[in-house]
Amino acid sequence: MNNTYPRPRTQAERGLPASRRRFLAALGTATAGVPLLAACGTDAGGPAASDHRGSMGDALPRVRVSQEASPGHEVKRTSFPITAVGLTWTGSPRGVRLRLFDRSGKPGAWQNVTAGCPCGKDTETLRAKSTTPPNRALVPAHGSYGYQLDVDAGVKVIEAIAIDAGHLGRKRRTAPSGTPSKSAPATAPGASGSAVAFPPPGLVLRADWGADEAKRLTADGRESSPTRFTRVQAITVHHTATPVDDPDPAATVRAIYEQHAVSNDWGDIGYNFLIDRQGVIYEGRYSGTDGIPAHNADGEVVTGFHTFGFNPGNIGIALLGDLGKQKPSSRMRDSLVRLTASLAARHELDPLAGVTYLSPTSGKTTDGPALGGHRDWTSTECPGSAAYLDLPDVRERAAQLTR
Ligand SMILES: [Zn+2]
Repeated sequence: MNNTYPRPRTQAERGLPASRRRFLAALGTATAGVPLLAACGTDAGGPAASDHRGSMGDALPRVRVSQEASPGHEVKRTSFPITAVGLTWTGSPRGVRLRLFDRSGKPGAWQNVTAGCPCGKDTETLRAKSTTPPNRALVPAHGSYGYQLDVDAGVKVIEAIAIDAGHLGRKRRTAPSGTPSKSAPATAPGASGSAVAFPPPGLVLRADWGADEAKRLTADGRESSPTRFTRVQAITVHHTATPVDDPDPAATVRAIYEQHAVSNDWGDIGYNFLIDRQGVIYEGRYSGTDGIPAHNADGEVVTGFHTFGFNPGNIGIALLGDLGKQKPSSRMRDSLVRLTASLAARHELDPLAGVTYLSPTSGKTTDGPALGGHRDWTSTECPGSAAYLDLPDVRERAAQLTR
């Protein structure tokens, strides 16, 4: 397939840590700008195994990636089991099909790919030179060893990545609830011990879902997407359009991190929080080392990349799964209520109210809900119709908790 769009920058060109660049250069692929499938992810001590030791030690899951710029129709094979295939394309959101191959090379059935939450970075220079983000999807691959794409006329696939998200090899630690903030007055809602303590009990910190912090950094150790903090104005709920019955949600969170931080070149995962079907809440976008997820010491929220055009001051919460037809589980809903109530209390937001969002970058104002879904801000299916229909109940319960 002829693809006329600019190819994504290679990992080396993006300025990933020197250890990664050295490894790629040794393979002769660092500047070639060709698919990395043949170079990445050897089963024996692959790049991730050695690269990651410098940042978080052996506790990090062994994440391996094969990246393919301007993918065509040929079968792409990997030497590692694929957790998920990340795709970026322009044209029809329903114009891509994919089939997976097992280790012996046997193909599975063709499946339609559904574009996921169209989250985006406000300052992103879109590769497709469009005013809207391209379509993106994360397709579960269930340990397959290859994939093949088929696209409609008018569809241009910009990039495909095959991700082995690895496995956590140790017990998960969670953040204590009610972690004190330096800025929070002693009587502030959300203080430790209250019904809306922040962070909620059981929240899984980045280090404990296996976030490799090196992926956020440039070769000289700077944040490739510097953290910016602003006053909170709204809370927005998304879904990830990944399988509802997810056997390893933490691996899915790592795969999303890989796609957002590296493939999309955003420098981090786009959401501030994620919630799985068992109700486990995961810390998303990095916000510092003070132990307060998503916030700085002044109580401002770190800008994520989840609601294109409305990111600063908007807290993004992603529900793991495709919630177009299937409702959030009761545990997922309960955690969403607890999390949104604790955030609303912390920032004195009324979950039942509307807000006039003021863009700190453009100065433009837009009316929207204090606690809403992605589709309240832009034209999208996200967070899925089933989750969206649940939001009035979530708002009501969150409001009750904050009273
Ligand atoms: Zn969304």
